[in-house]
Amino acid sequence: MKQITEPARQIDVIHETEVLVVGSGPGGLAAALGAARAGVAVTLVERFGCFGGNITAVGVEGFAWYRHEKTVDTEGVGREFEARAIAMGAATPEPQSDSHALDAEGFKVVADRLVQEAGITPMLHRQFVTPVMEGATIRGIITESKAGREAILAKRVIDATGDADVAHRAGAPTHKAAREDLMAASVMFSMSGVDRAKFLEEIRANPLTYRDWDSGEWTVETTGKEDRMFSPFLKKPFQLAIQEGLIPQNLLTIAGTWGAIYDTGDLTYLNLVHLDGCDGTDPDDLTRFEIEGRRQAMLAVEAMRRHHPGCETAKLRNFGMTLGVRDTRKIDAHYNMTEMDVRDQGRFEDSVGIFPEFIDGYGLLILPTTGRYFQVPWRTIVPKQVSNLLVAGRATGGDRISHAATRNMMCCTVTGQAAGVGAALSVKLGRAVEEMDVVDVQRELKRQGVRLG
Ligand SMILES: Cc1cc2nc3c(=O)[nH]c(=O)nc-3n(C[C@H](O)[C@H](O)[C@H](O)COP(=O)(O)OP(=O)(O)OC[C@H]3O[C@@H](n4cnc5c(N)ncnc54)[C@H](O)[C@@H]3O)c2cc1C
Repeated sequence: MKQITEPARQIDVIHETEVLVVGSGPGGLAAALGAARAGVAVTLVERFGCFGGNITAVGVEGFAWYRHEKTVDTEGVGREFEARAIAMGAATPEPQSDSHALDAEGFKVVADRLVQEAGITPMLHRQFVTPVMEGATIRGIITESKAGREAILAKRVIDATGDADVAHRAGAPTHKAAREDLMAASVMFSMSGVDRAKFLEEIRANPLTYRDWDSGEWTVETTGKEDRMFSPFLKKPFQLAIQEGLIPQNLLTIAGTWGAIYDTGDLTYLNLVHLDGCDGTDPDDLTRFEIEGRRQAMLAVEAMRRHHPGCETAKLRNFGMTLGVRDTRKIDAHYNMTEMDVRDQGRFEDSVGIFPEFIDGYGLLILPTTGRYFQVPWRTIVPKQVSNLLVAGRATGGDRISHAATRNMMCCTVTGQAAGVGAALSVKLGRAVEEMDVVDVQRELKRQGVRLG
């Protein structure tokens, strides 16, 4: 490939902090709050104009759709996201579970409020581009924005980019599945002008279950109990649209779930477009799949208008601000979680939180209706070969099936809060993050209301 040389240049250090969190999804937001509440100066850097990551930028509103009567759930800052959203009118009862769907737009304001109340320095519209390294120790980051390149220095850094951007560029070992093995990407969207009563009447008249996920292009293994449980799944309108030639035969992947329906006629969190073969770290793939995803979403809207009672005069309300990417780089951590850990109630002495036995991905769906849960170990957020860096959210260490559990947003808040608390205490105690005594981290997490065991 043809190359050029980029000249070296001096860069302004525009800011210095104690704990720097890069990325503000469920992992990063929880990390920033955990660190701030542990009593250090925290800065939260985000490339977009709002905090919240997939919740707000993609429109992933199903924050705890797995929760049922017997679910033993995470306790910590993630539960606070949900409670705060309810209190601020930014959530609505979720149709399949004992939880609330977050309002992607309203949650932008909830996140602003949480960040401001905790005294976190907000830095929106700055994209991390490269780490500032001193040997194997991270000392800060360089960002790119309308202001050009700028340096931010920090005593500890938390990578919450979802893609392990910081860890990867800092030289920590990471891995990413081959394109064809990555989980599908999705263009998420919402509709307006839906007749709520008519829409729900149809759903009640023809209820689907999680067994119906196993159709068209997909096969889904369950434990059996899921097959009898209601799922807000939509497929008939798209089958009819294929029969009449509106949707091409090869697009059996247009089907999926709806998230919430409002009295105002908004039908949101439409997870109906699934795009295989997208590498979310390749901007050429992102470009192609954004355009293709929007094309498919419009086919889905038209199929809903023609074939789902209540949607006859509905229209597209909005797309997510960006393509939804589920699966990219993961770190090789000091402990990589396994399928057995998440399927067999893993227990760890260095637990930093719990997450119910909820597994959703790579052809497996298990809902936590039994009270079973696993612990999340501290070591899964500690990358190898780079000092003073922690990783929160969906890029933590583990195999495929463990990620089908830990990628879920509530679990991302567990690794996030742990990373924030760990980084903060490491500053306070003057010890490198990878040398922390986890007992100190556990004590502060408990003080912050996290359930560890
Ligand atoms: C379509 C879709 C549907 C899903 N459905 C569900 C669901 O129903 N329930 C569930 O629990 N989970 C669901 N998930 C999974 C879940 O949304 C993610 O796994 C989770 O949000 C990951 O959290 P995170 O904090 O690690 O990363 P993200 O939520 O991806 O947040 C990362 C943040 O970092 C920012 N960022 C990235 N790179 C940079 C950079 N270089 N510089 C600065 N900022 C950067 C991003 O803008 C973003 O704000 C879904 C995912 C998708 C894509």
